Amino acid sequence: MPHDLHSSEADEGLALLIDKLCRTRSLSLGEYERLIAQRTPGTARELASRADAVRRQVYGTKVFTRGLIEVSSFCKKACLYCGIRRSNATARRYRLSADEIVKCANIGYDLGFRTFVLQGGEDPFFTDDVLCGIIGQIRAGHPDCAVTLSFGERSRKSYERLHEAGAERYLLRHETASPALYRRWHPPEMSLGNRMRCLSDLREIGYAVGAGFMVGAPFQTAADLACDLQFIEQFQPEMCGIGPFIPQKDTPFGDRPAGTAEQTVYLLSLLRLMQPKLLLPATTALGTILPDGRERGLAAGENVVMPNLSPLSVRKKYALYDGKLCTGEEAAQCIGCLSRRVQLVGANIVIDRGDVKS
Ligand code: SAH
Ligand code: SF4
Repeated sequence: MPHDLHSSEADEGLALLIDKLCRTRSLSLGEYERLIAQRTPGTARELASRADAVRRQVYGTKVFTRGLIEVSSFCKKACLYCGIRRSNATARRYRLSADEIVKCANIGYDLGFRTFVLQGGEDPFFTDDVLCGIIGQIRAGHPDCAVTLSFGERSRKSYERLHEAGAERYLLRHETASPALYRRWHPPEMSLGNRMRCLSDLREIGYAVGAGFMVGAPFQTAADLACDLQFIEQFQPEMCGIGPFIPQKDTPFGDRPAGTAEQTVYLLSLLRLMQPKLLLPATTALGTILPDGRERGLAAGENVVMPNLSPLSVRKKYALYDGKLCTGEEAAQCIGCLSRRVQLVGANIVIDRGDVKS
C-alpha cells in the first residue's frame, strides 16, 4: 500500500477521536495515548485549526498578558531537570528585594500589565511574612491588578495566609501525572502525592490554579502524557502551562535531548479542545526551542503571553534551562516584541486582568 494511503487512514482514525473529544470533552487514557503516539503532520494541522477556532469562539481576538517577575534563583529543592536546583554549584544565585519587586510591578503597570506573576525557586527567605508584605504593597498600589504566585510547594496554612494577603492565583505545575515518572525526575524526598495535595489545597482555598507539565523530558512516553491529559480533564485547572523540556548542562539531565515544538503545540491544541475556556500561556521554553514556537502555539489554541518584567541584571541568572530567550531585552521591548508576534496570528494583546471566562 502506498505510504500516503497509510497516513491518510491513520489521519481518519485520529479525526474520529478528535471529533469525539470536541463533542464529549473527554477521552479514555488509551484514546489519549493513541492520539499522542500516532500524531501525523496532517492531524496536527487539523487539530491546530480546530483549536484556533475554539479559542476565537471563547476569547475572540483577545490575548491576555501576565508580567513575569523572577524573584529568586535560590532553591532548596533538587528537581533533576532544573538548572537552579540546590545541588548545582555553578548556578548563579540572586534574590530581588521587596522594593525591587514592587518597582518591577510599578513599571509593568505603566506598560499596561494588570496582573503580575511572582515566581522563584523555593527560597526560604520568602517566608509568609515577607511575601504577604510584598503582595500587600502591590495590591495597595494597584487595586485593579491580580497577583499570581509561583513559589512551589508550601503548607496549606501558608497558602491560606498568602491568599488572605491578596494573592488570587497560584501556578504550580504538576510536572507529570505519572507517579513512576515523577519519581525518576525528582529526588526521593519529593512526591507526586504532595504536589497533588498542594494543588487541591490551593483549589479549596479559592485560588485560580495553574497546573501544567513538561513535554519530551527524559523517560516520558505517550502513555505518561496521556495521564497528564486525563489529569487536566479531571482537575479542570483555570490555567495549564506546558512547555518542552530543555536540558541545562549542569544538571543530571544535561545531556538529554530537548522536547519538540511539534509535540508541545499538538498537546496545547488537545487541551484547548478538551477545556475550551482554559488559559493556555505561550511559554518561553517553546520560543526557545523554535524561533516562531510561540506564534505556532498562539495559532494552535494559546491565549496568554507572559513577558518578562525582571530586571535585566538578573535575567540570565534565572537559568532553569540553557539558551533561555529574552534575557537581554528591557520589559518594554519584551512586550513590544510579543505584541507583534500576537498580531501575526490575527489577535491582540489587551489591558486586562485576564480572568478565566466564567
Ligand atoms: N519553583 C517553582 C517555580 C519555578 S520552576 C516550581 O517548581 O513550581 C517553574 C517551572 O519551570 C517548573 O514547574 C518546570 O516545569 C519548569 N522547568 C524547570 N526546569 C526546566 C527545564 N529544564 N526545561 C523546561 N522547563 C523547566
Ligand atoms: Fe526548585 Fe522549581 Fe527548579 Fe524544582 S523546578 S529545583 S522547585 S526552581
